[in-house]
Amino acid sequence: MIRIILLFVLIAGSVWLAVWLADHPGRVEIEMLGYAVYTEQVGLLIGAIVVFTAIVAVLYRIWRSLRRAPRRIVEHRGASKRQRGYQALTQGMVAVAAGDSREAKRFARRADSLLNDPPLTMLLSAQAAQLDGDEDAARRYFESMLDDPEMAFLGVRGLLMQAMRNGDNPEALRLAGRAQSLRPNTPWVLKYLLQLQVQAAEWEAADGTLQQVIRQGAVDAGTGRGQHAVLAVAFSHEAAAAGDQAAAAKQARRAHDLDPALVPATVAYAKCLAETGKARRATKVIEAAWSQAPHPELAAAYGDLAGEDEAPLDRVKRFQRLHSLRPEHSESHLALAEANLAAQLWGEARRHLEQSESVPRSVRVLRLLADLEEQEHGDLKAARRWLDEAATAPMEDAWYCDSCGSIAGQWGASCASCDSFATLSWQSPPGQRITPPAALPAPETAE
Ligand SMILES: [Zn+2]
Repeated sequence: MIRIILLFVLIAGSVWLAVWLADHPGRVEIEMLGYAVYTEQVGLLIGAIVVFTAIVAVLYRIWRSLRRAPRRIVEHRGASKRQRGYQALTQGMVAVAAGDSREAKRFARRADSLLNDPPLTMLLSAQAAQLDGDEDAARRYFESMLDDPEMAFLGVRGLLMQAMRNGDNPEALRLAGRAQSLRPNTPWVLKYLLQLQVQAAEWEAADGTLQQVIRQGAVDAGTGRGQHAVLAVAFSHEAAAAGDQAAAAKQARRAHDLDPALVPATVAYAKCLAETGKARRATKVIEAAWSQAPHPELAAAYGDLAGEDEAPLDRVKRFQRLHSLRPEHSESHLALAEANLAAQLWGEARRHLEQSESVPRSVRVLRLLADLEEQEHGDLKAARRWLDEAATAPMEDAWYCDSCGSIAGQWGASCASCDSFATLSWQSPPGQRITPPAALPAPETAE
């Protein structure tokens, strides 16, 4: 708009000047280098000067663009080369995604020759080498990325993944630490770092990493608290194995405070209390956990609170007390049945086995029934039948990994199969549900 007004003003000014010059005739005289030019048509002179200036300007522009032409041609060629290079890079990435190593390598070479930017094409070359199964070549590419500050993180990532695939945990831990120093808050780096610190039993470092994970919001506060408890139990187990009872007790107590529902924490804490002569307190800790959720490992720890020389009837009395806290629960019946069996109270043992609500009968119930037949009646055939049934009985509740689904013989801070941290939980076998209780028939004794 402003331009149009300016143009309008310019045209109006020119017209006014032309008219004014026509109305005021004059004379211009130029004398230079012995020549003299004079005219009485001032308007014509101004017009000639304007035309001359315009021609000079046009000629100057033509000369300037001719002078720049070679450079522009070179620039254009470079841009087209770069474009083709990026195209090759993209096609190479697509080939990697499709798993076509031959194409990926071909495009990597092409991108490399067109772009002349090694860091940019190195990742593609490394991925193409990995597709080809050439891990050594991939490692060389990843290692050369480390020299470039912008590519270093990608290089470390590639090397870290290689180390983890090869099961080289110390090297993986070192690389995870380096990745964290390059990008401190990257969630996957923190996840691997925590997992590797747990495997290396670096409990305090793992605790710090977990705090960072929680701050990042990758894990909510409640879950984070539970995971801190898992770390503390594992720390306590290790300290106890190394004979450092004070540290074991401190960590076990911390674990139990953080997550009272974590059975291994309760067991570790009760054990530490019992070992320092606080058996009454240990009993209370297990009983409190039992009244919340009975668990076979709690029953085992409860049994261990008294020494080996405990009279069987005293043991029955103690387990009667535990049973009374959750009299309806199958674990309460099983625990008391076992104590009765040890005290040779056959009738009571059978009664509690019958009351334990596990149909189909669990392996543990079937084994106890076999024990009962053998000890009460000396009936080895009947015992054998129960044991045969136990061999084909459905699996029982156990520690399962929530990440890979594998079953763990015993609880640990990380899964022995997939190395995931804090993924073990006590669960029924997948696809199995315990049906409601039914009367337990006595086994046929006649063959
Ligand atoms: Zn697992």
